[in-house]
Amino acid sequence: MKVFPLLTVLLVLVPVAVPVPVRVTVPTPVPARGAGAPPPSSPAGGWSWPLSPRPAVLRGFDPPDRPWLSGHRGVDLRAAHDGAPVTSPAPGRVSFAGFVVDRPVLTVDHGDGLRSSFEPVDSALRAGDEVGEGSVLGRALPGHCGATPCVHWGVRRGEEYLNPLAFVMDLRPSILLPPVNPGSGQGGSG
Ligand SMILES: [Zn+2]
Repeated sequence: MKVFPLLTVLLVLVPVAVPVPVRVTVPTPVPARGAGAPPPSSPAGGWSWPLSPRPAVLRGFDPPDRPWLSGHRGVDLRAAHDGAPVTSPAPGRVSFAGFVVDRPVLTVDHGDGLRSSFEPVDSALRAGDEVGEGSVLGRALPGHCGATPCVHWGVRRGEEYLNPLAFVMDLRPSILLPPVNPGSGQGGSG
């Protein structure tokens, strides 16, 4: 019979006096800059472009639906000129240097099942040679893009062809951010 009054006292007292750990959601607008927001233009794969300066992409990655169908299992990068140096986008070891049919091909094994192939490239390297990121693999030869100097770059993981651009660019769906121009547009000195 004494439970009732005690309970009543507690119920009355609790919200007033006892600091109960209650999860409180405070709708305070916190400025979302600084920590947390990832840099919008961080390179996804961390590799470097195999041509310098950063080349234009003359033809993109267009893998076929079936292995036996034609497609474009890599990207064509514009070279500054025929004979331009082609560099390794990542460290690795040359796994193939020779002709595939009539095309001089150089393949670098980057580990983790990833391989880069370049063609047409004239190279003095041999299978087994180690290369670092940025090491010159060879020289771009004419022919793959007609009269335009270019190099075809393919990337495979195992037997699956991947888009090489994913290793040098952030290809995730882009979020259109409003332009941030602090200082411009408002109160700028004219
Ligand atoms: Zn190509």
